[in-house]
Amino acid sequence: MKNEIERAEKLNTLGELAASIAHEVRNPLTVVKGFLQLMQRDDKADNHPYIPLVLSELGRAEVIISDYLNFAKPEFKKLERFSISQILSDVMLLLNALAVKQGVELVSDLKSEPFLFTDRNQLKQAFVNIIKNAIEATPSGGTVTVSLSVSGDQAVVTVADTGKGMTEEQLSRIGTLFYTTKDKGTGLGTTVSVRIIESMQGRVSFKSELGKGTEVTLHLPTVQND
Ligand code: ADP
Ligand code: MG
Repeated sequence: MKNEIERAEKLNTLGELAASIAHEVRNPLTVVKGFLQLMQRDDKADNHPYIPLVLSELGRAEVIISDYLNFAKPEFKKLERFSISQILSDVMLLLNALAVKQGVELVSDLKSEPFLFTDRNQLKQAFVNIIKNAIEATPSGGTVTVSLSVSGDQAVVTVADTGKGMTEEQLSRIGTLFYTTKDKGTGLGTTVSVRIIESMQGRVSFKSELGKGTEVTLHLPTVQND
């Protein structure tokens, strides 16, 4: 009983509650999806017409959850000191499959080794959402470059793509909750990322030119190297 109370007390923000619900909901969704896929392969089932629709809606629920929660676990308020270049390398490794599938080259230019003191899983989530958008906006043959440098006491991360860019109107709406221009978009990724970075006393800015590409710059406060 004591444990239950302590757990409940830790869930003191809406964000943390949302993250733990998402985490719990993802497992049953995966199971349901697996069984539906089995049913789809079974010739005897006469309910086939609905299965693709159900699977596609399940896929959509999964995308919504992963925009919120790729890494965050219920105990995601763990604060620690870590190397930001390590986190960027992890995220790029994770997104490399998507880049290859899209024919996009993912390039990293990690010039320095700044350290942060914050929640590494939340930071990963923020980077995944932003780098994923860059890959999705870039046509085959294009490049997404992730750079890391230091300016004063700030780590500076830029994610630059050679993709379709945005109009001024689109640029003014980016980061608005549920704003999306994609068929299967959620409009959650950018909002969640900006919120995470700002909760770490960081800043995010977007520069874009239609037809040329987009550059997202993130500033994050660093801590001493040792
Ligand atoms: P989603 O990816 O589900 O659409 P996001 O919040 O991640 O939601 O992004 C919102 C919108 O911002 C996208 O639909 C797209 O129009 C625009 N956007 C974000 N990043 C880029 C980018 N790198 N290049 C062009 N457009 C972008
Ligand atoms: Mg997105």
